[in-house]
Amino acid sequence: MPLPDFEHVACDLCGKDEPQRLFSGKDNFVPGPERFELVRCANCGLMYLDPRPAPGVIGRYYPGNYLAYQEFEVQAVGVFNRNPGRWSVFKNRVKRSILRDYFHYRFPAEKHPSPVERMAALCFLPQFNRRFYRVIPFSGDGRLLDIGCGNAANLVLLKELGWQVRGIEINRHCCAFAKEKFDIEVDCADPVDATFGARSFDCITMWHFLEHHHRPSKVLERCREWLTDEGLLVIGLPNCASLEARTLKAHSALFDFPRHLYDFTPRTLKKLVEAKGFSLERMIYSTSMPSFDWSLNTYAAATGKKWRVDSSLRMNPLVIAADYLLSFAHLSSSMILYCRKRA
Ligand SMILES: [Zn+2]
Repeated sequence: MPLPDFEHVACDLCGKDEPQRLFSGKDNFVPGPERFELVRCANCGLMYLDPRPAPGVIGRYYPGNYLAYQEFEVQAVGVFNRNPGRWSVFKNRVKRSILRDYFHYRFPAEKHPSPVERMAALCFLPQFNRRFYRVIPFSGDGRLLDIGCGNAANLVLLKELGWQVRGIEINRHCCAFAKEKFDIEVDCADPVDATFGARSFDCITMWHFLEHHHRPSKVLERCREWLTDEGLLVIGLPNCASLEARTLKAHSALFDFPRHLYDFTPRTLKKLVEAKGFSLERMIYSTSMPSFDWSLNTYAAATGKKWRVDSSLRMNPLVIAADYLLSFAHLSSSMILYCRKRA
């Protein structure tokens, strides 16, 4: 008997089956007639799709031109400038100074930074954090796993900085691309079924992955198994308690129906990682808002407005300043959690 395309599930955080309807939305990336219902668990507050596309059919909703699957060149993701010239050399020395002093990276052959380079590093640090928010502090022996790595852009960036990288990704084309273009091993698998040994990694990252998986709790159980005792778990994902999510609701890319099966808030994600044996070390409310202009345009189109905004809006100093304010108020569009295994 064929499996049904849609399934009803109980809450992945508390196990109760008490969904309260919030609002519905449609696929804004691949337009179609279907609408999807977002619910909130009455017991713990976790938001999720119900009903939702079953694991066997979810692939239909990921088109070939999906952003995370697109091929790229190394200069699009690397930290260091590749242009010749004294200005590039200086900027690269400032970046290495930041990486060494604030992120614990080692550059043994590097001569000591000058006072000017140290001062420039201090001034450039906020911009570095905003632009390279996927650079994480170096830890342990530098063995890193990125789950749901897509086109492996994040692994290319971290390999350049000295990590021994590995990925897991369900899209076969991305796995082949990472191997052929960058010599990076990416297992084509669901992380729940992957077979790494216990304590194999000093760091595990998941960038905008957990909300796409049918069983985030199971994924976190595997992470706990694969991390060393001092290991670091880094989870980046949309903040569904942000100003963007609260005001634009189903028009916001943060909900991304139906690819986002779960819509976490800082509170529900903290509860989930703690339930799975991690303690939250640090939460960053990211000051980069890649989806904001896209969400505004989706809202304008859906409500018959004539105006549209340009992606250059992201570089507007007023928008950047507003973004920093939202970050301080914990209302920015994405969040990054740094977690450690609890003993
Ligand atoms: Zn619940």
